[in-house]
Amino acid sequence: MTKEEFIRNQKVFLKWARRVVISFCGLAILFGVLLEIVLTHFIHSTIDGKPSWFDASIHDLEVSVRVFIIAILGGVLVILSFMWRYHKKLDLACPSCRKALFHTAAQIAIASGNCGFCGSAVFSHPPSRTLTPSRIR
Ligand SMILES: [Zn+2]
Repeated sequence: MTKEEFIRNQKVFLKWARRVVISFCGLAILFGVLLEIVLTHFIHSTIDGKPSWFDASIHDLEVSVRVFIIAILGGVLVILSFMWRYHKKLDLACPSCRKALFHTAAQIAIASGNCGFCGSAVFSHPPSRTLTPSRIR
């Protein structure tokens, strides 16, 4: 992979990752607000003494918050897994040690041309135009 291809793939990955993270945060906020609305309604129904099919209590609120936190952590793990796969698909790793070149490691590779982990060359160089047989006369 040339340096230009690496930079282009890096931009594609960052744009995709930004969209995924924003979508996940939006869904988490929506889910949290809906959970809060439902729980608040049912807890107020119980406190006001109105009959309710769902006898919510502070214990239910605690359980719901735990379930919400576990769901968020599970979602983060799923997103990290997708990010890892997409990062590999775009071949944004060192060809020698296969470590992911992300963020600072990518900046080091772009600036120096070498892997920040093992030091080997990361980019292949495109064939020089001046040395191709069709150009030599
Ligand atoms: Zn390496």
